[in-house]
Amino acid sequence: MKTLDVAIVGGGAAGLAAALTLWDRGVRDILIIEREHSLGGILRQCIHEGFGLIRFGENLSGPEYARRFIEEIEKRVIPYCCDTAVTDISPQKVLTLVSRREGLVKIQTKAVILTMGCRERTRGQLAIPGERPAGVFTAGVAQAYMNLYNTKLGNDVVILGSGDVGLIMARRLTLEGSRVKGVYEILPHPSGLPRNIAQCLDDYGIPLYLSHTVTEIVGDRRINGVKISAVDKDLQAISGTERFVSCDTLILSVGLIPENELSAGAGVILDEKTKGALVDGANQTNVPGIFAAGNARYVHDLVDNVSLDGEKTALAAAAWLKGTLSASLIPANPDSASSETPRFFPKPGARLIRCILCPNGCDLEVVAQGEQILSVTGNRCPKGVEYAESEIRHPMRTFASSVSVEGGELPLVSVRLSAPVPRDRIFDVMEEIKKIRLKAPVRIGDIACKNVLGLESDVVVTKTLK
Ligand SMILES: Cc1cc2nc3c(=O)[nH]c(=O)nc-3n(C[C@H](O)[C@H](O)[C@H](O)COP(=O)(O)OP(=O)(O)OC[C@H]3O[C@@H](n4cnc5c(N)ncnc54)[C@H](O)[C@@H]3O)c2cc1C
Ligand code: SF4
Repeated sequence: MKTLDVAIVGGGAAGLAAALTLWDRGVRDILIIEREHSLGGILRQCIHEGFGLIRFGENLSGPEYARRFIEEIEKRVIPYCCDTAVTDISPQKVLTLVSRREGLVKIQTKAVILTMGCRERTRGQLAIPGERPAGVFTAGVAQAYMNLYNTKLGNDVVILGSGDVGLIMARRLTLEGSRVKGVYEILPHPSGLPRNIAQCLDDYGIPLYLSHTVTEIVGDRRINGVKISAVDKDLQAISGTERFVSCDTLILSVGLIPENELSAGAGVILDEKTKGALVDGANQTNVPGIFAAGNARYVHDLVDNVSLDGEKTALAAAAWLKGTLSASLIPANPDSASSETPRFFPKPGARLIRCILCPNGCDLEVVAQGEQILSVTGNRCPKGVEYAESEIRHPMRTFASSVSVEGGELPLVSVRLSAPVPRDRIFDVMEEIKKIRLKAPVRIGDIACKNVLGLESDVVVTKTLK
């Protein structure tokens, strides 16, 4: 049987950060095992910006953030294998792998870092009654179809759940020409980040219906509508409130849960609240030598924190190999499993604006009458007031999209704007972006269109495509 000091299961943000830290600490007998065709995890399909504000002080897209780590992995020639799924981990830390090239392989490891990320809850788990027609997608799958494979999902879209993935998809679908009829959330408050409510729904006039849910999916071969009901405080549908909303696409954005089958199979105790691996303060599970990081532990809002988590876990794994880390002696931080971003919603009549001028990312509560600002609170410095003023008087936006590539390994490559453009010119810019045709290979940082519409912003490629 092959042997290995540390196996890292999953090549997303957590796994990449863990591998780099182990390597730099002198632990070289390691392997990142990734079931997809390339490294990067969920970041590969998150072409929007909002990544790396804390770590790099820059507003990067997902692929750009991933690239920074992958380049370091490649520079150091850290071993990794893609197209390889771990199908089992025994409590003795024997991994069973299935790879395209080598078939079934077993590896005895000294330590394992679980970084498998999370998965989406599906319609089955929600038990929505009705037919099983085509046109129902989870938000992440919809995102992958659009951002990686250039597939148009539909014309009239209903989104169930106000999780961040669904909000980001509402904006993306609108920019691509679909009509998002509404986002329906069963809870009395949104579950996504306030900045996503503002920038993904409010900017595009997409209505958000709180305390509403889908009570039936209607359709034969293809979905042709959903029945929507208001719910009471116990989240039960209120009779007499049901109405039909026609649509050809339903997107479910109803939450993420950690990938936990491998963890459970290895004898790892799961956290009842998060359903991820339960860990101590060093991210070690109850099985000595098995560690967990990132979304495999609990679903994180910010990738910067996932990278930190991967690094912290790698330090613990390195100590474990040296025999200087005892099993489960460090008490777990009781707050570790809670969402790290406090949900802050503005008081009635106020607008929430997130200042993006520096990594602090202050949430500003702004009260305005027309273009006149009455008050700004929540800013840690005076620049926040200037930012609020510009947002109210002449809001500017950057956004991400994708352009066609001829002869590439994928039909699309992600792009973003190098500088913000006036919010009311977004759709004009989108029309220009749709006209762009690139030829493979393209490299991250290539300019796909210089000074688009004379707005002093370039369309920049955010992913390398062979
Ligand atoms: C749509 C969306 C938008 C987001 N937006 C932002 C944002 O704007 N800003 C921000 O900071 N953060 C954002 N995040 C959060 C952040 O990107 C993620 O929390 C982070 O990237 C997760 O990293 P991870 O390594 O834990 O998991 P993942 O990236 O999911 O990586 C897990 C990897 O493990 C692999 N894997 C799983 N099981 C196996 C197996 N059995 N064998 C082999 N490989 C396996 C998977 O293929 C995957 O590549 C967003 C997340 C999502 C989903
Ligand atoms: S208000 Fe000041 S401190 Fe806060 S994000 Fe803006 S620039 Fe940074």
